Amino acid sequence: MKRFRRDGVKIKSPAQIDAMKAAGHLSAQALEVVGSLMRPGVSTAELDAAAEKCIVEAGGTPAFKGYGGFPATICASVNDMVVHGIPSPDVILEDGDVVSIDTGAIVDGWVGDNAETFVVGTHDKQHQDLLSATLAAMWAGIDQAFPGNHLGDVGHAIQKVIEDAGFSVIREYSGHGIGRRMHEPPNVLNYGVPGQGVKLEEGMVIAIEPMAVSGSPRVRTISDGWGVVTCDGKPAAHFERTIAITKDGPLVLTK
Ligand code: MG
Repeated sequence: MKRFRRDGVKIKSPAQIDAMKAAGHLSAQALEVVGSLMRPGVSTAELDAAAEKCIVEAGGTPAFKGYGGFPATICASVNDMVVHGIPSPDVILEDGDVVSIDTGAIVDGWVGDNAETFVVGTHDKQHQDLLSATLAAMWAGIDQAFPGNHLGDVGHAIQKVIEDAGFSVIREYSGHGIGRRMHEPPNVLNYGVPGQGVKLEEGMVIAIEPMAVSGSPRVRTISDGWGVVTCDGKPAAHFERTIAITKDGPLVLTK
């Protein structure tokens, strides 16, 4: 079923999608391990070590470590940090922190990628609302991922849920195609116009990952060259799943 496409989007066979499940499951497992350790007093370096142990012991390879020079297995982005936070023994979680964790694993040459935002300890109502809306937006986007629909339908569904809840979409970062490489075409924007953009076909595999904020959606990269923070210092939420587009609709590979 391998076909050349001018836009570089790789179409996977049902057997290849089946093979991608192992990487997806391991990515999800690593995320679950990190989530189970989330509490005040733990450092993001400890979370990183646990995720790496989980992936390596299962025979996988951390997908992020070494990717473009990224030094760790997870991205751990605390409070005003949106994505790409480098784990550190000096970043100790505190009660009420909003922590986005992104994990990816490679198994048999296929890549899985997923993310989740957690609140440490006491949940602030406004933070919880932001997390709930971003998670709901991700699922609304996934619900649009069936053959014949367009990426604009996915992006629009995500944008609508986030904006209807009174929050803003971060536009500088997007989801992506995924397969043998972590980032493949197409870009999967978290906003859009229904019916526009790449037409979805059976065999496409994409990572859908809305990022949202309660304040201004403006972001900047900090001096380590990785961490992306909001310009107004307000917290952000980020949820991600890797999904395949099948004739029966979206199939979540990271669970
Ligand atoms: Mg991703």
